[in-house]
Amino acid sequence: MLIGTMNHPEHPILEEIAWMADLGMEFVDLTLEPPAASSWRVNAEAVRRALERHKLPVVGHTAWYLPMASAIPEIRRAALEELKRCLERFAEIGAKWMNIHPDRHTPWHPREYYIEGNIETLERLLPLFKRYGVGLMIENLPGEYNSAAQLGELFGRLPEIGLHLDIGHANLQVPHNTTGEILEAWGTRLRHVHLHDNKGGGADLHLPLGAGSVDVRGALEQLKKCAYDGTITLEVFTPDRHYLTYSRDVLRRLWQEVGVPEEISGPIPADTCHGGNNVSISTQPTAPEAPGQRPNAVLLRMPRRRPALRWERRRAPSTIRPRRSASKPTTCFRSGPHCDKTAIPAP
Ligand SMILES: [Zn+2]
Repeated sequence: MLIGTMNHPEHPILEEIAWMADLGMEFVDLTLEPPAASSWRVNAEAVRRALERHKLPVVGHTAWYLPMASAIPEIRRAALEELKRCLERFAEIGAKWMNIHPDRHTPWHPREYYIEGNIETLERLLPLFKRYGVGLMIENLPGEYNSAAQLGELFGRLPEIGLHLDIGHANLQVPHNTTGEILEAWGTRLRHVHLHDNKGGGADLHLPLGAGSVDVRGALEQLKKCAYDGTITLEVFTPDRHYLTYSRDVLRRLWQEVGVPEEISGPIPADTCHGGNNVSISTQPTAPEAPGQRPNAVLLRMPRRRPALRWERRRAPSTIRPRRSASKPTTCFRSGPHCDKTAIPAP
C-alpha cells in the first residue's frame, strides 16, 4: 500500500511535489485544476521529470465541478474537451489512472437525464483512454453517487471503468458509512482510494484521521477483505502539515494492525479488487489492468463495526484553515479538489 496526498490547485505543482517528497509521501495524487494547476498551463515534461527525480508515482485527478452531463450541449462538450486535455497531460506525465466526478447539476431534469449525460460523455472518452493506455475511474460523491445502487447506474453500463473509492465521502449524507456496501458490490473494480475524516451529515470537512466519525480501522478492514494493496490518498486539507504526517502515521499503523482476513490469506484470487501497484512514472503508457466485472467472491460477510477513532487532542485543530466566509455555507476547509462544498445540503 502506498500513502500519498494531493497538490493544492492554487499552488505551483513543482513546489507541491517538492514538499510532498520532503514529507516522505509515496506517490502524488495530482489534480489538474485552475488556477495554478490547470491542464492548459501544466508543463507535463517538467512534472514528469520532477516525479522521476523524487521517485514518486502519480495518480490523475480532475476538477470535481466539470458539467459533463450539462443540459446545455455546448457546456457539456466543453467539459468533454477539458477531460480529453487532462487525459493527454496525464498520459505525458505517466499516470496510469485518471478519475472523474460524475455530474448531477441539471436543474429541472430527472435523475435519468444526468445519468444518461454522464454515460454519454464517458462513452465518448473511453476510446481515447484505450489509445493512451490510461484507465478511467469514477469517484463516489455524497448525495447522488454514494451507494452501491447509485454507482451501479454507471458501473452497470460501463464495465471498463474502475472504482475510485472516497471513504470520507461514503460517510456523508447517508444513514451509515457506505464503504462496505460499495466494496461488496463493486470492489472488484477498485483502483484507488481517498481517505479523510468528517463528522457525517453534509459537511465534507477533510479532517485529519481520527478527528471525526469515520471508522478508519473498519474501512481498512474492508479494503483488506478485497485484497486491496494499492494507493491511498490522504485528502486532509490543512496548511499545517503536522496533521498530514499525523494522519499518515495513523494510517500506516492501522494498516499494519489490520490483518488480512482468513479467506484471502492465501494467493490473491484473480477476481478480487486491485491488489498491486496501480501507478507508474513511466513515460511509456501501458494498458491498465482491466477492471474485473464479476462480483467479489471474497466478500463473504460484512465486517464487524468498530468504534470510530477519536481525535486525541482535547481542543479542535485550530491551525486548520478556517472557512473563507462566515456568510457562505462553505463546509470544507479549502476550496480545493472536487468537494462540492456549497451544493451539498445538510440532511
Ligand atoms: Zn476524494
